[in-house]
Amino acid sequence: MPVAPEPVLRVALPVPLPRLFDYRPPAGQSAGPDWIGCRVRVPFGRGEGEQIGVVAGIGPSEADPEALKPVQARLDVEPLLGGELLESLRWTAGYYHAPLGEVLATAMPATLRGGQPLPETARHGWRLTEAGQQAAAGHGRDGKPRRLLLRLVAHVLGEDQLEQDDADWRASARALAQRGLAERIVLAGAPEPAPSAAAPTLMPGQADALSVLRAGQGFRTLLLEGVTGSGKTEVYLQAIADTLAAGRQALVLVPEIGLTPQTLARFRSRLGVPVLAYHSGLADGERARAWTAMARGEARVLVGTRSAVFCPLPEAGLIVVDEEHDGSYKQQDGIRYHARDLALVRASKLGVPVILGSATPSLESLHNALQGRYRHLRLGQRAGKARPPSVRVLDVRKRPLRDGLSEELLAAVGACLDRGEQALVFKNRRGYAPVLICHDCGWSAHCKRCDAAMTVHTGGRRLICHHCGARATPPNACPDCASLALMPQGAGTERIEQALAERFPDARMVRVDRETTRRRDAIEKILADFGEQSGILVGTQMLAKGHDLPRLTLVAVVGVDEGLFSADFRAGEKLAQLLIQVAGRAGRAELPGEVLLQTHHPDHPMLNTLLAGGYPAVAALQLAEREAAAFPPYAHLALLRAEAPTEADMQAFLREARELFAARDDVFLNGPMPAPMARRAGMARGQLLLGAAQRAPLHAALHDWLPRLQVLKSARRVRWSLDVDPTDL
Ligand code: ADP
Ligand code: ZN
Ligand code: ZN
Repeated sequence: MPVAPEPVLRVALPVPLPRLFDYRPPAGQSAGPDWIGCRVRVPFGRGEGEQIGVVAGIGPSEADPEALKPVQARLDVEPLLGGELLESLRWTAGYYHAPLGEVLATAMPATLRGGQPLPETARHGWRLTEAGQQAAAGHGRDGKPRRLLLRLVAHVLGEDQLEQDDADWRASARALAQRGLAERIVLAGAPEPAPSAAAPTLMPGQADALSVLRAGQGFRTLLLEGVTGSGKTEVYLQAIADTLAAGRQALVLVPEIGLTPQTLARFRSRLGVPVLAYHSGLADGERARAWTAMARGEARVLVGTRSAVFCPLPEAGLIVVDEEHDGSYKQQDGIRYHARDLALVRASKLGVPVILGSATPSLESLHNALQGRYRHLRLGQRAGKARPPSVRVLDVRKRPLRDGLSEELLAAVGACLDRGEQALVFKNRRGYAPVLICHDCGWSAHCKRCDAAMTVHTGGRRLICHHCGARATPPNACPDCASLALMPQGAGTERIEQALAERFPDARMVRVDRETTRRRDAIEKILADFGEQSGILVGTQMLAKGHDLPRLTLVAVVGVDEGLFSADFRAGEKLAQLLIQVAGRAGRAELPGEVLLQTHHPDHPMLNTLLAGGYPAVAALQLAEREAAAFPPYAHLALLRAEAPTEADMQAFLREARELFAARDDVFLNGPMPAPMARRAGMARGQLLLGAAQRAPLHAALHDWLPRLQVLKSARRVRWSLDVDPTDL
């Protein structure tokens, strides 16, 4: 009888190959299930090369076990990625057609990915030294360090408490430590609860939401729709309090710009337990500590941005996704996951409820609610809030425009400044290929086959459809009104800022966009500096929410047409979400607000529906349009992107990839066509679009097709990637 082969360790490595790698256990050890989920250091590649991987399975090797190299070291005693988390990550790798090793690496904080040991998660605090006590008794120069010194006279303070009171406390503590006045110590025992603020009595809509959560058991999804100020966060807080009382952990996902010190402070003061933050602005060590504290069950609540969806939840009780429609939940490089979708996958495997909150839910979530998969509750506008602003549509057809700004818009800004108030000039989108519009009648160039605008390329000499790749020559005159005033739409925020500066040379002005706000808290700082004096704000998406601006009374939106007529079928949804959000910015205090929408399409059904029926009406309209056009959520898409220094290499790869695709009735493949930004950073960029009415055939086709692309010769001259459920087409 043949001897059963010794099992080997099957290791997932962070390399772009869709397979596991077999290793022998170190001499004297055997490969058992206790290895699964543990990190290992293994030899890899030529010479001294090594990698950190995670054991994803054990089993017989197809290769000769004797020929396998042994693992150099096992880095974890207990599995780091175990149970539900490992299962969810396997699901992620399958769904996004990504190598498991890369998914696991993405899920881990950087220090752990690099093989470092789990950090210490004990609670630390600060106390004064003898010298510090003496210094406190004497005189000293006032300043932040001095104030911290005086606070430490009577008590040792935990770092979580310090963090809560002052986000910049570390600099002060370091200054004191350097002068030998204070020292960092480990605090024993359970964290002291912070003083907790009282919970208000719930309003009826909020009570309904909580009873849905309290009545049920196991996985279920609550879609909570309500404008800013309607009390969604209050529902999260009470649901989290229930979760904590049941001895369970809660994970709260917030969009990139939603994770402000104010948000954290509100959670901390209400919940009475330490609330950990997790976002890209933290040092690697802090991220690893937060992640590990959740893994050990020491931390009970974590509030974080997109990547926090991968944090371990051994005692999970609740997941909240705030502003679930927000675009920042979709990762746009590497593993292109959607954090909201992964939150749902995890909650279902964990058997816990999810709350998806938004003023303007995504059409995907509304569709799920209509299908009966989610409970959908709406919270009403709070009484006593400022009146909603008046909204006016500015018809700019045939009117002179200055850098995209109409005279009426400039006049309204001038009047606002004269009243001593603040105006926001808001640019809908930036950086995308423009669409061709007739300035006299509003006609725009559309693809004959797709319900989408064509975009202008090669300096205005070509029109291209981003859905089917169709090409056309731009007409010389408007087909509808024969005007010669055809122009590509889309002035950037810098041009708008310049035009405003020329017109209002004495006005205070600040621009807020991706360039001016690279740092996490930059918006908060810019807006705090801008203060309450009269002036003009110019910006993009980023200004749509956050920080209160009580003296902001005018919001003027330009670039509305790019949302109404765009190659991106989601542009209308994004525009509606944005208009609801920015409108909420005007006139929040006692001053009445006004919103101006500058457009060539004053009669567009989307705008009229929005004005008459608000977001629910627009969402219904757009869902009907998506269904008719067979776009998501009524279809499922995937995008194969490629970029190369030369157009020819990029095209050659996409054409060969297309040829390798085994045609089938239930999956379509369009392209090659240019990416929305056809050139970026010196690279020619193109794509193939795949889609299907059902997920299963699309995924089966991808599963078949992708391995064959790996071996294409032309693939060596391009960078390519697959985007499942792409959000930027
Ligand atoms: P959202 O998250 O929808 O913007 P919040 O939960 O932040 O709304 O509520 C807006 C404001 O109303 C907050 O100041 C909050 O403290 C207050 N609030 C919320 N619910 C209640 C309630 N039931 N009773 C009294 N005040 C409430
Ligand atoms: Zn025209
Ligand atoms: Zn088309």
